[in-house]
Amino acid sequence: MAMTDQQFDIVIVGGGPVGMALALALREYEFSILLLEARELPETVDDPRPLALSYGSRLILQHLDIWENLAQPTSITTIHISNRGYFGHTVLTPDDVGIPALGYVVNYHNLYHTMGQSVRDYGIVYQVNALVTTLRTDRQRAQVTYQQNGIEKRIQARLLVLADGGKLAEQIDGIHYHVHDYRHTAIVANVKTESFRSGTAFERFTLNGPLALLPSGDQYALVWTMPTVKAEKVLKLDDRLFLLYLHEQFGDRLRDFMHVGKRTSFPLILKHASTIVGHRSVMIGNAAQTLHPVAGQGFNLGLRDAWELANEISRAPLGTSNEPGSGKMLSAYQKRRQCDKHIGRMFTDSLIKLFTTDSSLLQICNGIGLTALDCLPPARRLIARQMIFGTKNG
Ligand SMILES: Cc1cc2nc3c(=O)[nH]c(=O)nc-3n(C[C@H](O)[C@H](O)[C@H](O)COP(=O)(O)OP(=O)(O)OC[C@H]3O[C@@H](n4cnc5c(N)ncnc54)[C@H](O)[C@@H]3O)c2cc1C
Repeated sequence: MAMTDQQFDIVIVGGGPVGMALALALREYEFSILLLEARELPETVDDPRPLALSYGSRLILQHLDIWENLAQPTSITTIHISNRGYFGHTVLTPDDVGIPALGYVVNYHNLYHTMGQSVRDYGIVYQVNALVTTLRTDRQRAQVTYQQNGIEKRIQARLLVLADGGKLAEQIDGIHYHVHDYRHTAIVANVKTESFRSGTAFERFTLNGPLALLPSGDQYALVWTMPTVKAEKVLKLDDRLFLLYLHEQFGDRLRDFMHVGKRTSFPLILKHASTIVGHRSVMIGNAAQTLHPVAGQGFNLGLRDAWELANEISRAPLGTSNEPGSGKMLSAYQKRRQCDKHIGRMFTDSLIKLFTTDSSLLQICNGIGLTALDCLPPARRLIARQMIFGTKNG
């Protein structure tokens, strides 16, 4: 006997930090929501990647009642930007933008655990071990098939939100990804240095790629990007040689590098969907755009996606012509997000191209550029604003 599919107003596929942020942002409204996540409960996930959160993200996480419960985010009160081998450097401080801190560092897994707990505390319908396999959408509805504990299940919704990091969207008509593989890999690890500058984050552009040290408790979270072929070799170095090489690339600002924790690596691509909406469907977070972590924009941008989508949905009563999933609601959301997304993507991509070129003339110009930036508060303010708030709409 054929069973009738269960119906929801909104199904969110992917319960990563962005999907959960959306579910939490919608908790006060009357919509029926289902959140589907392929992994086990968040507590089982161990992902040490540091996330630099902007002040704007802090404000959103405060609205979601997440911020208060996060385990000690470390404030960034200074960002020191420099270019290896060249004389320029610039320093961004909160005075450049008039806020208490430039940003905060948290671990992916701390954030993920806190959000997972909150999703359950609010009684959001949340299924883990639920691997979505098939999506079908038309003008009227979205249909989602998933596997859970060996059983195939199917549901229908007025609106399908894809927050799966970018695996499933191409099943939707008219959507494909533009992909640029930088052939770079990010090495992530916690490191201890002989000297520690509380609250200072370092972003250093080396000939191999950008190297960031983010203050995290009393140590630094390292995000070190370099060509993949090189990263494979660097990952194989023993701790002592790894630390020596890191010191050589970073310079003497923090004296010796004393200790390195477990190293993890992530291949880096820039990937964005040709359009972020389809029939009855929308993509947010990494599913809409995956950015290079150089400027720490990816999650911040994804969080703004979730926040703005929740705002758009909250203004769309069921049964009206702009109900969740209607063409009208979706194009309003798309329009609202266009500018912020475009700038976040271009900003990150230009930063990489500008600082990873091996032309020495350009390198020298970069050196001059950074020094000039230091003398020009308005330009500095512009960069700081982009890194902190993203772009405000319209
Ligand atoms: C090394 C590194 C450092 C970074 N640093 C920063 C930083 O400093 N600041 C910043 O803002 N961003 C940073 N980022 C980017 C940030 O990690 C991402 O933007 C963020 O994780 C995106 O969240 P998401 O929820 O969209 O996607 P994800 O975190 O990828 O979550 C997607 C979820 O969907 C689930 N899923 C996938 N497929 C399915 C399926 N078929 N069915 C059901 N569920 C599914 C997955 O299990 C996962 O839980 C960094 C990234 C890297 C690699």
